[in-house]
Amino acid sequence: MAKLGRELKSQGINIVDLSLGEPDFKTPEHICEAAVKAIRDGFTKYTPVAGIPELRAAVCEKLLRDNGLSYEPAQVIVSTGAKQSLANAILSLINAGDEVLIPTPYWVTYSALVQLANGVSRFIPCTIDHDFKVTPEQLERSITPQTRLFIFSSPCNPSGSVYSRDELAGLAAVFARHPQIMIISDEIYEYINYAGRHESIAQFPEIKEQVVVINGFSKGFAMTGWRLGYMAGPKALADACEKLQGQFTSAANSITQKAGVTALLGDMTPTRLMTEAFRQRRDYVIGSLRSIPGVKVNNPPGAFYAFPDISHFFGKTDGVTTILNDEGMSMYLLHTAHVSTVCGSAFGSPECIRLSFATSMEQLEEAMQRISRALAALH
Ligand code: PLP
Repeated sequence: MAKLGRELKSQGINIVDLSLGEPDFKTPEHICEAAVKAIRDGFTKYTPVAGIPELRAAVCEKLLRDNGLSYEPAQVIVSTGAKQSLANAILSLINAGDEVLIPTPYWVTYSALVQLANGVSRFIPCTIDHDFKVTPEQLERSITPQTRLFIFSSPCNPSGSVYSRDELAGLAAVFARHPQIMIISDEIYEYINYAGRHESIAQFPEIKEQVVVINGFSKGFAMTGWRLGYMAGPKALADACEKLQGQFTSAANSITQKAGVTALLGDMTPTRLMTEAFRQRRDYVIGSLRSIPGVKVNNPPGAFYAFPDISHFFGKTDGVTTILNDEGMSMYLLHTAHVSTVCGSAFGSPECIRLSFATSMEQLEEAMQRISRALAALH
């Protein structure tokens, strides 16, 4: 959709882009300064594959400070983006034919990586009626003798759902009965949380050795282009990830790693201000969507996406275009309202579309007016 939107833009059409998954803010100044200093100091050589000791220690400090989680630096592997951390973990854990449980909606990379590892993704359908979250009963029912891994994100891309401590405790109780199942907990939207404290499933001691925490710098510090992420988990898995990464890419960028230390241990004010701006935009976008007849939307407590259920419009037409499904809706909004979105089937939820509110309030106001008009024309 982003590519199609750019093509239409290049033809002079005024497109409002709500398809992107990255903060529209600049990386905070003090983090940029740390990178400049690293260059000037000549910190431009290969680093140890698993990351510089200073950053692995900073990750441990952060996990203890923010999440109450205790890890040794040897259990932390720094990678070129959280995406590589996920790839390392999934390729290390999954053998051909192993089953991986993924609640929908999910970030598409999860199933693509499972496929790359010759594993089999088994999706657990979660809808807006349960706030797009999996229940312990659903989880228990989905487990088979082949199940090896469960992958989820909280806050979730694309639904913005956030699991509470109690909800995670319910899932943890199921996993405690199935110690052969590992859990990948993708916490990259941790700081984009409007509900309060972030809760990690790794906090439950009885399953901690089953959990791989994935996190990164892209979202919370507006560092998408810097490419830096990390995993924390059992030492044996960390060793496997290090081995794999040593052949794929070696260490993450040396300059970025220095900036990462400053991000984790430095002033968090810019992150807080950015999250506050996202919260205001979320309130506006959700309020606008709720005022459109036929649109069902939850109030996302995290991340920067709205994920409305637009299935009410399937089969309806403006006289020219008939909306058959979510993809049809995304195309209709692009061509009629000139707003780009992402269809929900890209995330395993074909009754929804995803709108990113990581763009300015002016752009969002324009987009919501256009979307309201376009949907009102459907009968
Ligand atoms: N996990 C989720 C849920 C994401 O949405 C993204 C990026 O969109 C990532 C991981 C990857 O982040 P990174 O930029 O660190 O590779």
